[in-house]
Amino acid sequence: MSDPRPDPPPGTHREPARDESARPLVIAIDGPAAAGKGTLARGLAARLGLAYLDTGALYRAVGAKVLAEDGDPGDAAAAARAAERLTPADLARPDLRSEAVGAAASRVAANPRVRAALLDFQRGFAAHPPDGRAGAVLDGRDIGTVVCPDAPAKLFVDASVEIRARRRMEELRQGGSGVIYAAVLADLKERDARDRTRADAPLKPADDAELLDTTDLGIEEALETALRFVERKTGLAATKRA
Ligand code: C5P
Repeated sequence: MSDPRPDPPPGTHREPARDESARPLVIAIDGPAAAGKGTLARGLAARLGLAYLDTGALYRAVGAKVLAEDGDPGDAAAAARAAERLTPADLARPDLRSEAVGAAASRVAANPRVRAALLDFQRGFAAHPPDGRAGAVLDGRDIGTVVCPDAPAKLFVDASVEIRARRRMEELRQGGSGVIYAAVLADLKERDARDRTRADAPLKPADDAELLDTTDLGIEEALETALRFVERKTGLAATKRA
């Protein structure tokens, strides 16, 4: 079908038009902290021309907002209020990737009111990806099980907890934090246990998710494996080199 839109100004780029009758394609990437989900999801979105949503950032923004207001992330009413009043500025906070905010995020994420407040936004993003993209890649803990259970391609990305702790430590050190391995490992184990055992939307693979263990895989290898899987499930082929 020809594109009915007027030509864009010379020298500018226009995204491919979406066929409005087609449902956006959703790729669900779940897994524990520091398994490589974010890198993989961003890489898939770039290579497939899809939108990308880091849903962990939403929970981190709620946790950070509670901390910034001197609240306790374990206080259910305070956490729910923060989630219901979340603004774009909260998502742009510079401290979102810190360990303290990660721990607060995992605590507010166990609160059903917080999860309910963030659900519509996530589903809306998947149903109407920004910039007219033909689909979206969402990464988190419950994308394949709760947020987008009908996603045609679901990956559950995992790695040994020791490797995840090393990767997280390097990420934090690159950001200027002086962290020690034992503390990062203990924090990851605590966060994993909380995420896996909460009653509402616990971290677990969907029945139809493909498991991808990145313990011994480099970033490029993991991305190529994920691309082959998505292509097999959806017929969508990578058109762009990273
Ligand atoms: O992925 P990230 O480590 O940034 O997520 C921070 C926390 O947010 C996780 O430990 C988890 O408790 C929570 N989360 C969640 N559901 C999601 C994404 C993140 O519960 N879909």
